[in-house]
Amino acid sequence: DLILFWHRRDLRISDNTGLATARQRSAKVVGVFCLDPNILERDDVAPVRVTYMIGCLQALQKRYAQAGSQLLILHAHPTQAIPALAEALGAKAVFWNWDVEPYSQERDRIIISALKEKGIEFLENNWDQVLHAPEDIRTGSNQPYTVYTPFWKNWISKPKAEPVETLENAEGLTEKEKEIAKSAGVIALPSAKDLGFVWDGELIIAPGEQAAQERLEEFCDRAINEYQEQRNFPAVDGTSRLSAALKFGAIGIRRVWQATQEVWENSRSEETQSNIRTWQQELAWREFYQHAMYNFPELAAGAYRDAFKNFPWEINHEHFQAWCEGKTGYPIVDAAMRQMNEIGWMHNRCRMIVASFLTKDLLINPQMGERYFMQKLIDGDLSANNGGWQWSASSGMDPKPVRIFNPASQAQKFDPEAEYIRQWVPELRSFDTEYLVTGKITPLERQAVGYPAPIVDHKLQQKMFKERYQQQKVQP
Ligand code: FAD
Repeated sequence: DLILFWHRRDLRISDNTGLATARQRSAKVVGVFCLDPNILERDDVAPVRVTYMIGCLQALQKRYAQAGSQLLILHAHPTQAIPALAEALGAKAVFWNWDVEPYSQERDRIIISALKEKGIEFLENNWDQVLHAPEDIRTGSNQPYTVYTPFWKNWISKPKAEPVETLENAEGLTEKEKEIAKSAGVIALPSAKDLGFVWDGELIIAPGEQAAQERLEEFCDRAINEYQEQRNFPAVDGTSRLSAALKFGAIGIRRVWQATQEVWENSRSEETQSNIRTWQQELAWREFYQHAMYNFPELAAGAYRDAFKNFPWEINHEHFQAWCEGKTGYPIVDAAMRQMNEIGWMHNRCRMIVASFLTKDLLINPQMGERYFMQKLIDGDLSANNGGWQWSASSGMDPKPVRIFNPASQAQKFDPEAEYIRQWVPELRSFDTEYLVTGKITPLERQAVGYPAPIVDHKLQQKMFKERYQQQKVQP
């Protein structure tokens, strides 16, 4: 019996729960990936992200071939194309792993009813991208968590599953079935350029599961041992840079967890263990935001807290443009935005700095920043990005009301030698470190190197933000 396995954000054959279940049921497991116009034609798609995804699909096709089967590619609306392909091939079942995003859930409901009509089986409620399903992490009164710390305590107390078996010794389509698949819309894998997405830069992580696995091993050998301290310095390569691999599932989350537990068990010092714990907490943030998106899909549409639902944000295209281009006149902010524009990835500390700057200094609606991030990030992900923006804007599920970052003190603390600033804002390279981190560069000096004057005054702007916030709190 043929089982079609529909890959979405799980672009690998190892440690893939739905795929392993399919293989247990039948040797004839064929993969399918659908390039969905509803996603690719949105205005928030980053060329770098599509490039990484296509690279992962190429690698996945090779892995299927090694396992004895194929990965088929469709470029069509999945609600129609997936059931049609399954029917044309006489598949007994279509399996896939569940996702938290509102669009994905709506799409899956439509597909489930089409499959039901055709008498084709599917796999209900199968979670793969998280260590714990949203239903499993609930408060004592069986409610979803809206605060991270109690979520974390519950999440870390639960036993974690081991990685599942890799697809092996599978059977693919016969030549005749391949012809049928073609007439049901199966195409050769296009390049990102074919799809209209041009990215000529390097990728911060090579696509595919092998590259992700190597990166994980390298991180666990080295940086995880000093993560707590080093993760805050954007000039240091102190984080895993696994975010795109986790977003597209080039690596399984159980495998990631197992790797961290191995370092934990081999480490003798409490200090090392506390570094590992801190990294594991980041994995839990990832799941916290995914659960939040699943339980409160309205988060995708805007502010969670009442005080921000009708907030009088500024409409200032010039300021927004300056922020996007890294020309605000605040060196640390500009360095960060240019890093993202150039390599499609930004350090977490800097994501917080620029998000605070857009919302608290420029008083611009966080949704504009959220969308710009999606247009640029290799790891752009609805739940993590929305969670990060709502946290930075103070509009989300977070007990601390107003958090305002001072760009100068952030730079002094986290880029004390101005290495990061010099790397990404080359016109400022020759200035003394102190001027770079404090931003105290005179107008004439700025002019001489073609660097803009600060577009706003941090002190004045934060005062204005606080006033507006107080008003909204009283009268939302
Ligand atoms: P590491 O420090 O090595 O962390 C390991 C993994 O944990 C990451 O790969 C990621 O999967 C997860 N993680 C870490 N921090 C967070 C967090 N705060 N929230 C959710 N997951 C986390 N992350 C994305 O994956 N996609 C996004 O679109 C995204 N947008 C963000 C927007 C803003 C405004 C902010 C403040 C943060 C955003 N993050 C996003 C979270 C975080 O910045 C990135 O996950 C991290 O910088 C990726 O680098 P890394 O893989 O080296 O992380």
